[in-house]
Order: sequence, then C-alpha cells, then structure tokens
Amino acid sequence: DALVSVRDLVVDYPIRTASGKKSVFRAVDGVSFDVPRGRTLGIVGESGSGKSTSGNVVAGLVEATSGTIVFDGRDISRASARERRALTRDIQVIFQDPYGSLNPVKTIGRTLAEPLVAGHGMSRAAARERVADALARVGLDAGAADRYPAQFSGGQRQRIAIARAVVLQPKLIVCDEPVSALDLSIQQQVLELLARLQRELGLSYIFISHDLSVVRSFCDEVLVMNGGRIVEAGPVAAVCDDP
Ligand code: ADP
Ligand code: ADP
Repeated sequence: DALVSVRDLVVDYPIRTASGKKSVFRAVDGVSFDVPRGRTLGIVGESGSGKSTSGNVVAGLVEATSGTIVFDGRDISRASARERRALTRDIQVIFQDPYGSLNPVKTIGRTLAEPLVAGHGMSRAAARERVADALARVGLDAGAADRYPAQFSGGQRQRIAIARAVVLQPKLIVCDEPVSALDLSIQQQVLELLARLQRELGLSYIFISHDLSVVRSFCDEVLVMNGGRIVEAGPVAAVCDDP
C-alpha cells in the first residue's frame, strides 16, 4: 500500500475581492495522488499551480477544505490537534530557503535538539547524540552543532535543514523546491544526499519543483499541476519524455 493517499483534495484560501468582500480562492481543485513507500513523487507545474499547497496540506501546515488524506494507514484529514502533533514528527518539510527557517540566534545544535527534548521528552545528552548523528549523516562535522546559521554557505544550510528533518526520524519528507536557490554544482550534491538518505533510511519524498530536468533525474512518479488540477500523471519517463 502507499504511504500517502490523497483523494479529491480541495483547498480554498480566504481572500477579499477588490471591493473588499470576503471570498475564497480555490488553490487546489480536486486532486488525487499516492506516494509509494520508499519512493519519490514529483510535483511539477508553473508558479501558482498549487504545488506547495498540496505538499503543505499533507504536512499539516495548511488545512484541507475537503477530500481525504490517508497517511501510513490512518485518515489524517480530520485529525485532532493532538494527533496532528504526533504525525508532524513522521512528516517533515524542507523549503527552498533554509535560512528563512533557521533561527539566526540559536546554534544549530540547539535548533535541532529542541524538538527532541521538548517534543519527545529526550534527555539533553541523548538529544545531543542524535543531533551529532544527523549532522554526520548529511556530511557536516560535529563542530557544526556549536555554530550559527550565518556561519554556513547556502548548500551547507540546506544540509542542516535536511539534518533537522532527519533527526526526527520521519517517514515522509516534503521537499519544496529544495535545490532551487542553490548553484548547479551544489544542487547536484544536495540531490545526491537526498537520494542516499532515501536508500539508507527508507524515506519517501514528495518533491516539488518547477525544474523538469531535476525532477526527471530524481523522481519515480510525477504529477503535472496547472490551475490547481492535475493535468498529467505517471512514471517519470512517460511524463517527462512526452513530446
Ligand atoms: P505553487 O507552489 O505551484 O507556486 P501555491 O500552492 O503556492 O502554488 O499557490 C497556489 C495558488 O494559491 C496561487 O495562486 C497562490 O497565489 C494562492 N495562494 C497561496 N497561498 C495563499 C494564501 N495564503 N492566501 C491566498 N492565496 C494563496
Ligand atoms: P538552554 O537555554 O535551554 O540552556 P541550551 O543551549 O543549553 O539551551 O540547549 C538547548 C537544547 O539544545 C538542549 O537540549 C541541548 O542539549 C541542545 N544543544 C545545545 N547545544 C548543542 C550542541 N552543540 N549539540 C547538540 N545539542 C545541543
């Protein structure tokens, strides 16, 4: 069975019209897809097509208006706040700009350890060990834990963001344009890292990108979105090589 099954997902955002009346904008309009276990589902499409919204709903960052989301055998569409908190550990998100999501005044070690201590009730010593292990996994030396986000390059910061996800031992990572802000040579390194982690840890990915060549090299299955709908879906070769 699939790790994630999304059916008939609709997401409306509240907006105000030019005249100031309350209304809604339908960002996702009846979308269904599966994320197979241990594999990567790519979501491609132009800016504004509903890719991020779809990923954010699965990650619990945005609420669905209607539709069902089954994660790891459980219907999470109507999950309580408490269930949602438990689930967010199993579903992590990596964004395009890691700097924006790292607190500049906290050391990397502290940022990564906090959810383990506060959320999992882990001892500080145990958290420190888990953090060191996660940093090593993404190719950063142990000293990285005592430094601040500004002391790293863009590529290193994306490794830190990946370590922050991995330290929580998720089953799914929603990667939202994870390499779009990076130089081409660095993009390749980060993609290789994600691929290695998938093999080592059995991770499943939703991989959001506007870059077809990245998607073609990295994903197993692909959805093409346009105007909140899926306009094409299938194995990566079939979709990306479609004339
Ligand atoms: P993509 O990831 O493909 O660029 P998004 O899911 O970010 O698309 O956005 C889909 C549509 O929803 C866009 O038209 C965007 O402007 C709109 N949108 C996104 N977030 C909000 C919001 N919080 N309120 C209103 N509209 C939004
Ligand atoms: P506080 O202000 O609460 O004393 P600390 O900076 O001492 O904050 O640590 C907060 C959390 O971050 C603790 O759980 C600690 O174990 C963890 N932590 C701090 N520095 C590191 C580090 N270099 N490596 C791993 N974990 C760290």
